[in-house]
Amino acid sequence: MPTALYAAAEHHCLPVTAQYANLSSENWSETAWAHPACIIQPINEIHLQRAVSLLVESNVPFAIRSGGHLPSPLGANIDTGVLIDMSSFSQIHYSANKSVVTMWSWAEVWDWHATSFMPNSAFSDKLSTMMTNASEVSTISSLNTGTLVLGLQPISTSLIEAGQARGSNSSNTLGLTPRNQTWLVLDVGWHFQSDDNAAHAAGGALNDRIERASVKSGNYVDYVFVNDASWDQDVIKHYGPCNVARLKRVREAYDPSAVFQRLVPGGFKLDVEN
Ligand SMILES: Cc1cc2nc3c(=O)[nH]c(=O)nc-3n(C[C@H](O)[C@H](O)[C@H](O)COP(=O)(O)OP(=O)(O)OC[C@H]3O[C@@H](n4cnc5c(N)ncnc54)[C@H](O)[C@@H]3O)c2cc1C
Repeated sequence: MPTALYAAAEHHCLPVTAQYANLSSENWSETAWAHPACIIQPINEIHLQRAVSLLVESNVPFAIRSGGHLPSPLGANIDTGVLIDMSSFSQIHYSANKSVVTMWSWAEVWDWHATSFMPNSAFSDKLSTMMTNASEVSTISSLNTGTLVLGLQPISTSLIEAGQARGSNSSNTLGLTPRNQTWLVLDVGWHFQSDDNAAHAAGGALNDRIERASVKSGNYVDYVFVNDASWDQDVIKHYGPCNVARLKRVREAYDPSAVFQRLVPGGFKLDVEN
């Protein structure tokens, strides 16, 4: 497999070569750094198709990395398998913003958690209280360079309606209900790998706390924005049973042998057993 695979890619990189150290840790957050057995950088569709075909034929696990922004461990990187690095793909603008990494290099590890709610002033007050007084905030603050950032993305009814109007069916794949809502993200940053578990647990617990409060006050929106979700959040389930069933039909049509389920461990998945 390796010889044919290497020939398929314009550039390849084994652990012993000079670029390997930089390329294997190109991902934005240290949580996503890994040790792939081989990194390839296809430069066009032909190289990419050939590489994927060879990986499938050889049953070799692989990961795909585009900009490398996803902080999920092994979400866009892999240990021992092959990493397909899309940064040489001429059609894609490589958008990993190095200045962001430089600016925040004092806190090298990031994780985030997401939930959604319908905004109103009463819930904003509750959120403000939780973001200042919750025990998880103290836990995160106590970590070396521990940082907590709250991100709020307002999503309007008209935005969702416009998205659905452009779709091929009346309900979109994400299962969004047209109503004003806010997508919340908790960005947690810290320095030492030894704090990974504590930081992840505190971020997740704070997200759960916010979610419970929004359910209790009737503000909860059953949607998790994939770009902001933690690796252990079940993003796809929130799209709703009809959409999950539709996605499975699409998978059966385009990936009947479930290659991207079996050989690509990273990312959010439809149920493996189905
Ligand atoms: C500082 C920062 C700010 C951000 N701000 C925003 C924001 O404002 N709004 C927002 O929506 N998101 C934001 N994000 C989140 C970011 O957009 C998502 O994490 C997004 O997935 C990153 O895209 P990427 O190309 O870097 O993907 P990667 O991290 O490279 O990959 C993401 C996932 O997609 C898979 N993948 C990538 N390319 C392919 C491919 N060609 N084929 C199949 N699978 C593939 C990977 O295997 C991985 O599972 C931000 C991220 C960072 C680090």
